Amino acid sequence: MSLPAPLLRALRRGRRTVDRWLGRRGPDFVYSPRYQLDLQGALVDPLRGERILSFLDAAGLLTAAAVHTSAPASFRHLRRVHTDDYLDASSRPGSLTSIVGLAIGDEQTERILETQRTMVGGTLLATALALGSKGIAVNLGGGLHHAFAGKGERFCVFNDVAVAICELRARGFAGPVLIVDLDLHDGDGTRSIFAEDPTVHTFSIHNLTTSDERGRRAVGATVLELPGEVTDEVYLDTLRRQLPPVCASVHPDLVVYLAGCDPAADDALGNWKISPAGMLERDLFVTHLVRGGLHKPPLVVVLAGGYGRGSWRYSARFFSALLNRGQPLPLPDFAESTLLRYRRVAQEISAQELTGDSSVNPAADDWGLTLDDIMPAGAGLLRPTRFLGFYSRQGLELSLERSGVLERLRSRGFAEPTVEMEVGNPAGDTVRVYGDRGRRELLIEARLRIDRRELPGLALLRIEWLLLQNPRLPFSPDYPRLPGQKHPGLGLLSDVMALLVVACDRLQLDGLLFVPSHFHTAAQGRKHLRFIHPEHEALVRALEEALAGVDLAEATNAVAAGRVIDVRSGERFAWRPMPMVLPVSEALAERLNESEYQKMVEEAAGSYEFRLAE
Ligand SMILES: [Zn+2]
Repeated sequence: MSLPAPLLRALRRGRRTVDRWLGRRGPDFVYSPRYQLDLQGALVDPLRGERILSFLDAAGLLTAAAVHTSAPASFRHLRRVHTDDYLDASSRPGSLTSIVGLAIGDEQTERILETQRTMVGGTLLATALALGSKGIAVNLGGGLHHAFAGKGERFCVFNDVAVAICELRARGFAGPVLIVDLDLHDGDGTRSIFAEDPTVHTFSIHNLTTSDERGRRAVGATVLELPGEVTDEVYLDTLRRQLPPVCASVHPDLVVYLAGCDPAADDALGNWKISPAGMLERDLFVTHLVRGGLHKPPLVVVLAGGYGRGSWRYSARFFSALLNRGQPLPLPDFAESTLLRYRRVAQEISAQELTGDSSVNPAADDWGLTLDDIMPAGAGLLRPTRFLGFYSRQGLELSLERSGVLERLRSRGFAEPTVEMEVGNPAGDTVRVYGDRGRRELLIEARLRIDRRELPGLALLRIEWLLLQNPRLPFSPDYPRLPGQKHPGLGLLSDVMALLVVACDRLQLDGLLFVPSHFHTAAQGRKHLRFIHPEHEALVRALEEALAGVDLAEATNAVAAGRVIDVRSGERFAWRPMPMVLPVSEALAERLNESEYQKMVEEAAGSYEFRLAE
């Protein structure tokens, strides 16, 4: 990976230089689980902050002391920027629909306000930490720059950066402040709020400039609009030419950096073409410019925009450089991040909490369960009371609560998620999550059992049945009806799969086992699991080839209705049980020997050919 020249020079000058711009102790991070706002249809990843923390933690870069929890900002804080009329109006039912751009229920209004207030609290805390340490502090949220004093726009209800600065002013901090806003969008709300304040300079490079009149007349503002599909060269050149003179003339005593990731080429919303290397160069350029001189003002970083699944990775890599003496780690992998995050949460839950039984071997906390813990002596004589012989109902609920799944359901408007379990059925133990106490809206249903037959010598967690549905969402072109569906999916498959892997960790099982009963469940399962037998993999690849260009609902119907013909025999293809696994233990991974497996898939590839009947 190539590092930006100023950083390379700094590295060559020795570690002391890097230590100097990072601050004597590493940066502080501010986060709250309340930042996880899950709105179906929104492009913001609710696990963004958690993925960043899990990645940094797994790399061994985080200490517990560096992570701080934010609390919601009080109305006294919000009032430093926002008008009373607006604050009153924003809490009224229906008031957020136009700001958020989605139809929002009353319960969700409450939840969105809480999330944004907590993000404001986070920026307040990060500012205090940065000033206290004379170093760098990061809020893993915030950057709500489209919030004006008297109105909210484009998902921003309260302006966290403005509130934090005005709070500092109220506490006597008089020094000049520079806001560097490199989110793809114009920081119009922030610029408007400080339009008549010469002590706060707003610097923004963005795609479109607001029409806000007050913002246009701002006294201390640099407004740089780049039209079209901006590339690294134009973007970084603009930044390198324009920011240093502004920084020199403002001579700030505090810098707030909105490190929005929506300029990235793979952003789900943005139209710019900034490469991963360009994103890193941008972030390190700003950091070095602010922290590299003699003055070294405290630096507060907030996440601001960034849409789609991969956005968090740019922030994670930037912060890895801050934590690792200026040396960034490689761009993290998305697929691993969900599991990393759930494993991190699970390690904070003890076996006693999950079983509700204080007699469980305390050593089990370090994941060393014995057979006696899972199956106490004489257990076979009693009616089973534990899910998979281990979890109490409260334990299941606790695990769903701590991992944030119930909170995400609440943020989608399911006010009282209710967990129920059913054990003792030889077909498997069932857990259900409803959205309400009256158990009318079923959201999650999983029937699981431990299978020791499929792969002799190994124990697998077998998924007999898995239903994830959102009963409040209508079918639409975005959510077409698949066979067997009463409602569209819940969009939590990766999360549930990660929770099941964590259960395998806990119960010392070798992996997940799933035998899909339809083409579409196999197609969806393939994102997480693989076929045990290479010939099944070859067969399904041949099916997918024959059905290429056909949408999933139509494809699975064609398979089920016998409209797919086996070209070799001329007969209709009939779906057959083909077991899939997700390896968790080394033993299973070894048995599935990846390179040999791929070779066998290729060998089997010639044996299958299908076509869709006319
Ligand atoms: Zn943006």
